[in-house]
Formats: sequence, structure tokens, C-alpha cells
Amino acid sequence: MKSEYSPASLPSARTIAADAAGIAEAAAIIHGGGIVAFPTETVYGLAADATSEAAVARIYAAKARPTFNPLIAHVASLDAALEQGLFSAEAQHLAKAFWPGPLTLVVPLAPGATVCPAARAGLQSIALRVPVHKVALGLIVAAGRPLAAPSANRSGRVSPVTAAHVAVDLSDAIDLILDGGRCPMGLESTVIACLEGPPRLLRPGAMTRVDIEAVLGQALAGPAGPIALHSPGMLASHYAPRAKLRLEAKTLESSEAGLDFGGIFGKRKNVLDLSASRDLAEAAANLFDFLHELDALGLNRIAVAPIPSEGLGEAINDRLARAAAPRGSS
Ligand code: AMP
Ligand code: MG
Repeated sequence: MKSEYSPASLPSARTIAADAAGIAEAAAIIHGGGIVAFPTETVYGLAADATSEAAVARIYAAKARPTFNPLIAHVASLDAALEQGLFSAEAQHLAKAFWPGPLTLVVPLAPGATVCPAARAGLQSIALRVPVHKVALGLIVAAGRPLAAPSANRSGRVSPVTAAHVAVDLSDAIDLILDGGRCPMGLESTVIACLEGPPRLLRPGAMTRVDIEAVLGQALAGPAGPIALHSPGMLASHYAPRAKLRLEAKTLESSEAGLDFGGIFGKRKNVLDLSASRDLAEAAANLFDFLHELDALGLNRIAVAPIPSEGLGEAINDRLARAAAPRGSS
């Protein structure tokens, strides 16, 4: 599709309510080759027409995302996904069990796929997801085509879970922000590759390993070989705040902000507790919001309390390790 995008519409994106009128306006912008931030159950996404090279190019430019990092194509149903990707029996089983929801499946590209090469970073595989958030689904249906949508933040920065986070990071680079409130899960989707061999976990996320393995009846393989190279969400430095992170902190130093879990730092200034009751779903939902908030304090370091690695803790600790990794590797 030809882009009618006009740079004169920049620099500052409007934020509008994600009601029926807002979704219709967003879909019209996407039809014209524009890019729109929208809420999902995971984090805010930045959507473009996945069938348009020009529109997808705008996503990479707005995020300053390396063009070798492929995007997830969001579709409204398994039927729509089957037009884009070749689903093995295992992939279909996972899709039927977890869609709509926060699971992304990487499958071989279908012969008649309409998602453009740029959205796939030129790969012969495609990442597909059916979101459950009603604004996200409404936007896909209104646009009437797959939407390429990475998280709506500059590459390497903390993912946004509110419209305000998007506005701070990207409003000079995108066309519109649909405000649908805070994202309920707060962590990106789990990415599973169903290519050759057993299904592989490429990125832990909002759908837990234990739930996926229960449906598969087998353990997930880890990332390995060339797939890992093509899954830059696995790069070390990602999701990074400006402040340095000190992980597994048992105590808080006076110069530090604190990201607590289960109240071990006590009631102190500049401390936010992910979950006083040690509830991992609550901690996941708060993670990026609290990282944004603590980072805005302008302190040099954030101490992070230990978080158990079971269930959603696997994805939480994955994001924290990336946020703490040396910069410049993503
Ligand atoms: P993001 O859009 O930042 O949430 O990241 C999407 C994740 O899916 C990244 O880790 C990508 O590398 C991964 N991904 C997307 N498409 C593919 C693909 N065709 N093959 C392997 N990984 C993919
Ligand atoms: Mg991202």
C-alpha cells in the first residue's frame, strides 16, 4: 500500500481516548501509512500496517530500532494467522490454548503471506499473536489487516504501560496515542518458536513456562543456534532505565532508589514495592511503571530486591537482568 504519511503532522502526537471514535481515527491513520500507539494486555504497542514496507519503515525510524530486529504481526484470529504462517500441530495446539492472549508464535512464513519483508526483517519465519485486549483487537479489526507492533518505546528503553509513558518517549515521532488506561499484565508476550524440532522459548513473558509446558505435555527447549541470533529481544541490554540497577539487593543504600518486593527495604523514601504480598502477577503489572517512576527521580542507582524465579518471576528477572546489563548491546 502506498504511504500518504505527511511529516507536517509532526512533531507532537495527540493522545485521545481509546473509544469507538478513537479506534476509528487510529485505523484511518494506519490506512494512510501512519503509526499509532495503542494499549494491549502486555504493554503499549506501536502499530503500523504490516503489509506496507513504508509504514513499517516508520516504526523502525521512530523507535531507532535496528532493522534486523523483526516485529510481531498482530492479527484478530487464528484463521487470520493461518493466512500468514504455517502452523505445525504443536503450534495450532498452542494457539488454540492461549489465543487470544500474551503468547507470540514464530512459525514458517506461509506462501501467500501479506506481511511485508521489512516487518519480518527479511526472515522466512513470522511472529504472530492474537491479543486479548479489546482496544487492540478492535484496532486490528477496524484496520482490516495485520498490524506490525513492537512496544511503543525507543529501542532499548523501558516498555510503556501507560499512554503517558508513550508520550514522554515518542510523541515527537508518531502520529497518535490511543489512551486505554494502564496495561493489565505489564510484561511483553512470551515468544515461542515452532520451527524445526521441539517448540523453543525465545523470550519469557506474560504467559508462564509452566502453563505452556502443561499444554504441550513436554518441556520447552531454550533458545539455540541461529534462531537466537534472529531474536534480538534476547540481546543483553534492553528495557534499560537511565539509572543503573543493582540486582538481588538485600539492603538499600542512602543514595539509592529502591524497587522492593515483599517489603524487605522497609517504608523508606524513594522506594516502591512491586508487591508487598509477594504476588508475582501484581509485581509484573507494576514492574515497568515503577521503573519509569523511580528512574524519573534522577538518582544514579536503583537497588532491586530479590524476586523468586518461578512462574512470572522468570520473565520479571529476565527483564531486570537486561535492564541491568552494560549499555550499547541493543
Ligand atoms: P518486540 O517487538 O520488541 O516485543 O520483540 C519481538 C520479539 O519477537 C523479538 O525478540 C524478536 O526478535 C522476536 N521475533 C519477531 N519475529 C521473529 C522471527 N521471525 N523469528 C524469530 N524471532 C522473532
Ligand atoms: Mg520492546
